[in-house]
Amino acid sequence: MRIIDVHTHPVLDHKGGTPAEVKKLIAHGRRHGIVHMVALGDVLVYGATPNAAQLRAINDENAMVARLHPDYFTAFVYLNPRLGERATMAEAERCAALPGFRGIKLEIANNASHSCMRHAAKAARTFNFTILQHSWSTTNIKDRIHQSDPVDTALFARRNPDVKVIMAHLTGIGFRGVLEAKPLPNLYVDTSGGWPEEGLVEYAVEHLGPDRLLYGSDLPVRENAITIGRILGAQLSAVERQKILFGNTARLLNLKLN
Ligand SMILES: [Zn+2]
Repeated sequence: MRIIDVHTHPVLDHKGGTPAEVKKLIAHGRRHGIVHMVALGDVLVYGATPNAAQLRAINDENAMVARLHPDYFTAFVYLNPRLGERATMAEAERCAALPGFRGIKLEIANNASHSCMRHAAKAARTFNFTILQHSWSTTNIKDRIHQSDPVDTALFARRNPDVKVIMAHLTGIGFRGVLEAKPLPNLYVDTSGGWPEEGLVEYAVEHLGPDRLLYGSDLPVRENAITIGRILGAQLSAVERQKILFGNTARLLNLKLN
């Protein structure tokens, strides 16, 4: 079994970024069959709305992880679209020139339906990046100014049908989020977030088909034994399982893995 983890934070809260720590993370991953990780950066270390210098610091640290082990890590550039078009494009361009960057990570700087998201969409188009948007049902957590409800992430994908978008956190978006994503072929869902919920993975495959669900763990926030168990414990065919754990992300990000 080979796994690609589309949602990881090798460096979190300033920890994990030394060469020895990164090696240890890779050894941990390999023990679980994870052959490749997408590194999303230390995204909340400076709060919800980082400035340009803070973004650069976060992205530099993430770039270093990818540079240390380019075979094991793909990096996403972390952006804050509220900083405007010029700042967003400049940081995306800077990171696009570094090895290993294939996408954009968006967190809680703004709601995904905000008009500033056009800057993120422009960066995605210009540099052929996939966007991974943190998403969570806001019916409980409120704070919709920062948090993106699945409705908001789906609206962003609907407005930008030529941009590939990953709605993060299957457990966080829930059954309702799956139905929001259903009609949008450019919208993918990652399986991270919270404890596994019985039937949810099967429900996602039933409604999205087997090609738009991507294994993600949110490592080190969540443990791989649980996040992988969520997939292995679901009633899926061997082909569907292989697609979710490996094939879909390899295809989406055009990863050439040996
Ligand atoms: Zn995350």
